[in-house]
Amino acid sequence: MTATDHAFPAAQDPCSAPGHGARLLRLDEALARVLGEIVPVADLETVELRAALGRVLAVAVHSEVEVPAHRSSAMDGYACSALDLPGSGTAALHIVGTSWAGRPYAGAVNRGQCVRIMTGAVLPEATDTVVMQEHVRLEGTSAVIEAGYRAGQNVRAVGEDMRRGALAVAAGTLLRPAQLGLLASLGVGRVAVRRRPRVAIFSTGDELRPLGEPLAPGQIYDSNRHALHGVLTRLGVEVIDLGNVADTREDTLRAFEAAAAQADAIVTSGGVSVGDADHVTDILHRHGQVGFWKVAIKPGKPIAFGRFGGAYFFGLPGNPVSALVTFYQLVQPAVRALQGAADADPPILLRATCESRLRKQPGRLEFQRGIFSRLPSGAYSVRSAGHQGAATLLSMSDANCFIILPLEQGDVEPGSEVEVQPFAGLC
Ligand code: AMP
Ligand code: MG
Repeated sequence: MTATDHAFPAAQDPCSAPGHGARLLRLDEALARVLGEIVPVADLETVELRAALGRVLAVAVHSEVEVPAHRSSAMDGYACSALDLPGSGTAALHIVGTSWAGRPYAGAVNRGQCVRIMTGAVLPEATDTVVMQEHVRLEGTSAVIEAGYRAGQNVRAVGEDMRRGALAVAAGTLLRPAQLGLLASLGVGRVAVRRRPRVAIFSTGDELRPLGEPLAPGQIYDSNRHALHGVLTRLGVEVIDLGNVADTREDTLRAFEAAAAQADAIVTSGGVSVGDADHVTDILHRHGQVGFWKVAIKPGKPIAFGRFGGAYFFGLPGNPVSALVTFYQLVQPAVRALQGAADADPPILLRATCESRLRKQPGRLEFQRGIFSRLPSGAYSVRSAGHQGAATLLSMSDANCFIILPLEQGDVEPGSEVEVQPFAGLC
């Protein structure tokens, strides 16, 4: 397990005392605390290049080769010596052969001669310039070149893209297809990556039923576990699904213990308020450590962060929209930190003109669900995705962004400028 051993200092923690303090934490304070606690997974694995997609590089890769390894042509055209380029008028150079990509021209090239050359092909020794084929007129076995070419044009020098020993990909990089291509271009077939974090999830609630079972009065389907499984999978962690847990102290404690025994982090939903059936925060208080459990955001005010055993713990609210909002804002950056890729997703925020009237009470930072689009002018416009209730998954499903309304903000009138955070493929 990767969690360090120190407890949260109570003095710094207005929310950890019994009674849970009065002040709500601001989201940025809460996030800073989470990120201040997380230590990345330390274990390394060496994997095949393709299997490294979405993984975090553990050891920097420096190039062991020059790229390109040979002087080569950047164009299809004719390779010649700059000494034969005409200063004015034209010059006819005799074509003595062809240099193909992967099949260099082996013969000599003398003054007054040139070689047909393809993009990526090695430049014959006595040549230093490539004239694009579009700038050449063929006359029999000669290429007629116009004036205006400079020595060295359209030639890629050895090591021009990367010198031997240069840093190719830094440790801590979340590997995307571009990095896989780059590493392959250097001949690197296996890379050292950090182990994928193991994240255990469970839902709490007597009312929850798994899919496929009929619902008795008052029961609902356990939707959070599916949404959380989705976002965690997209982040590239190993998800351990521990199902849903009844609202008893014993069952909840057992689930905590099972989760902590196998996972680096635990993400639960429900049971974090102060209702009689809410055991999560209480168990965290008694058997783990609580970092905070109230953050001034809407939806999602009660959210628990802490430690249980060796695992980090995130207790998300039960309402499905609240669970996704708090996941997006707090757990996502924590997962990236746990992966060792804290800088992988800098937040993308856009300014947009709001077409809808939005209701908002000052006091909490709000994440309303919106649908944004780009206008022909290039500016962005956003409208409400519909009913904003914390349980209304339809508006979350229809949305493509959060409309972020600051703490002190009141109602928003149509035509106002607002800040928008695109889901960026996660929700
Ligand atoms: P709680 O935070 O446990 O008080 O739950 C708040 C609301 O979210 C209640 O209406 C729950 O029924 C609902 N809820 C809790 N967990 C889930 C879940 N896993 N899937 C769907 N709804 C849930
Ligand atoms: Mg509940």
